[in-house]
Amino acid sequence: MKILFVRSTEISSLDRMFSHLPVRFPSLIYFYHKALTIPILAALTPKEHTIEIDEGQFKDINFDNPCDLVAISTITRYALNAYEIADEFRKRGIPVVLGGYHPSALPDEAKQHADSVVIGEAEETWPQLLKDFQNGKIKPFYVPTRPVAPSLIPHPRLDILPKGAGVGVHATRGCPYGCDFCSITHMKFRNKFRMKPVDFVIDEIKMIPNKTFFLFDNSVTINKKYSKELFRKMKGLNKKFIGYGNIDLFGKDEEFLKLASEAGATMWMIGLESIYQETLDYVGKKTNIVKEYISTIKKIHDYGMLIFGLFAFGFDTDKLDIFDTTDAFVSKSEIDVPYFHTLSPEPGTPIYKKLDAEGRILTKDWSKYSQADEVVFQPKHMTPEELLYNTYRLRENQYKLSNCFNRIYRARKIGTYVFFESAWSNLYMRHIIHAYAPKQGPAC
Ligand code: SF4
Repeated sequence: MKILFVRSTEISSLDRMFSHLPVRFPSLIYFYHKALTIPILAALTPKEHTIEIDEGQFKDINFDNPCDLVAISTITRYALNAYEIADEFRKRGIPVVLGGYHPSALPDEAKQHADSVVIGEAEETWPQLLKDFQNGKIKPFYVPTRPVAPSLIPHPRLDILPKGAGVGVHATRGCPYGCDFCSITHMKFRNKFRMKPVDFVIDEIKMIPNKTFFLFDNSVTINKKYSKELFRKMKGLNKKFIGYGNIDLFGKDEEFLKLASEAGATMWMIGLESIYQETLDYVGKKTNIVKEYISTIKKIHDYGMLIFGLFAFGFDTDKLDIFDTTDAFVSKSEIDVPYFHTLSPEPGTPIYKKLDAEGRILTKDWSKYSQADEVVFQPKHMTPEELLYNTYRLRENQYKLSNCFNRIYRARKIGTYVFFESAWSNLYMRHIIHAYAPKQGPAC
């Protein structure tokens, strides 16, 4: 049987351009990396089946590709696109399976567009689904009964991705921190932190043909003993990588920073979220202490690595002064690549449930849940337009050419490689923020 895996996503013109270049620019790798969901599903698929991949928006998909089963993975912002694709395949008589964060959060909604919905992690349910499908007994929903054991997670089939695609590795699964706005920790069993055997991960890294890769773990700082062991074994691999981590450990453990740097880490993506401790406490981000931000950023720099700092606005504790205060903080903090987005309450999270119960969700048009160019809920202390416009104003100020060049110039003191990484990252983010600029300011 032939299975067509479809990743419902948006492919920007810049990504299309880069993906056709014969040479990869390492510093850009994380901007168009491929998620591992489909390569892992492919690895779980018995060899007797043929596999193909397609991705993009409705217009990008080849609906004439003959196949027996279509499996579509999606997140909230691309869910409507996934449903449209699913409907089209089903119209042609091809059964469809939907999975991913959004179908896991709203399985009954997804079921209206699919023959079956896979809820949560699929390592145990996908092989069973395939058997049931071949026997003509596919079930409407597949739900795991326990968190998948790390030993059941295979190496992803990187060979099915386009040649030269940016890829990554998951050393661990899940995050136990439970931040109220985070769809990761609130997906079924994803609050259970699990570690793959270090040597297995090292083998996986060795399989990556590129010199650079993305360490996809939700946070590499959750179990420092495990991560240190991993970093020690990565040291001789001669790779460079970008990963996610929580700021608390970076500030406290210089051995961790040293080992990470020696292992090839060049930039850490850190959810700083807010410079108001009250907001961090309100959303349950227990790892972040604002007064430690600046000293921790300095320590990360001391070990030759950059910080991609992510901020979100629109929490119930945020008032209008948050934008200017954050702007001033970012300028003085020496964050290398800052990014600012509006809160996008994802279905399945406590924050979504609270806003929905209070009647403050303004739209369930999931395509607007982009965190960038739309506000989909009623903020407490400002209008949706003020939230959107001020977030954009802050992005625009921080990505003025003079500010970009200041950050790039500063990075030369941290290291030559990261200087180029800072340059690519800042210029790419500048492109992104203009691509998502709202058309007009608030009507006030
Ligand atoms: S620490 Fe990060 S991954 Fe973990 S729950 Fe919070 S936002 Fe999600």
